[in-house]
Amino acid sequence: MRRIGLGLILAAVAAMANGSGALAAPKWAIVVHGGAGVIERRDLTPAQEAAYRAAMTKAAEAGVQVLQKGGSALDAVEATIRLLEDDPLFNAGRGAVFTAAGRNELDAAIMDGRTLAAGAVAGVTRTRHPISLARAVMERSSHVMLQGEGADAYSLEQGLEQVDPAWFFTERRWRSLEKALGSQRLPIPDPPKGAEDRPDPAEGLAHDEGKHGTVGAVALDVRGNVAAATSTGGTTAKRWGRVGDSPIIGAGTYASNASCAVSGTGTGEYFIRLTVARDICALVEMKGMSLQAAADQVVQTELTRLGGDGGVIAVAPDGQIAWSYNTSGMYRAAAAEGRPLTVGIYKDEP
Ligand code: ASP
Repeated sequence: MRRIGLGLILAAVAAMANGSGALAAPKWAIVVHGGAGVIERRDLTPAQEAAYRAAMTKAAEAGVQVLQKGGSALDAVEATIRLLEDDPLFNAGRGAVFTAAGRNELDAAIMDGRTLAAGAVAGVTRTRHPISLARAVMERSSHVMLQGEGADAYSLEQGLEQVDPAWFFTERRWRSLEKALGSQRLPIPDPPKGAEDRPDPAEGLAHDEGKHGTVGAVALDVRGNVAAATSTGGTTAKRWGRVGDSPIIGAGTYASNASCAVSGTGTGEYFIRLTVARDICALVEMKGMSLQAAADQVVQTELTRLGGDGGVIAVAPDGQIAWSYNTSGMYRAAAAEGRPLTVGIYKDEP
């Protein structure tokens, strides 16, 4: 649990760097998550831990590069998520979890805090980068959310990179599926065609058989605009076209320059009912709460009270950044103007 206002600390660090006594807010900032869940030190070998930290660092650095050059928060979050979607360590794009039918059905959303424009896709199966498809929906269609076959068709029509569904396959996630289906006494489907011939890039690296590993990013750019993005394979052995919170604007993803940008991770059924991302921003906007206090209120109090598990990352136009989670760990990274990039996994890390 984080109770300290990280935004204030960041402002103080920036002030020290300026050599001034006054608190100066960072002009740009980015926070990234790679999923929350049961992540204990004993679960990770040093090599596995190093691999996660390296992946989080690389993804955050991609966003930092955009922001440092004066690029937009939207470009920063998209660049960050695209890297994580290609990384088999995470439950997004390649490395996504499987449905009970043995498919990867991917969800993603992106939102622009400057205009409240938003784009989301659910259940897509052939787009290498679902986050870029969500952005195409936002910028090139008159809709906010597309799902299933229609979303796949739109992706093709828009010229986004298409891949064989076996591209997303990893042995590790297949084993999780087998375990989940076994415990529910459901039949185990055949793996996607072509999957057998693929070497598993995650083999020997990943520790958990759990459902987490969704990725998200929030950013503030030098023009004072915030943006949020989230991408996921959802939950292992999901059925009946289940859609989680990640692509639902206001639940797993939200951004408004009037308050903040939030990306969540956790059991989506709880995040949807609490409209977690929008609620955090509403507390900031309407109650004048600090970003950290608002995130803690929704995650530590409301989500926990409802029995939900997970966490959020957030950034505000004034440079505050925050995260809050009620699980034992959350893969996360943060960087801001005047402050070095930091990566954390466990609760006892800053
Ligand atoms: N929130 C995602 C979902 O419910 C899963 C996760 O973040 O672990 O689809």
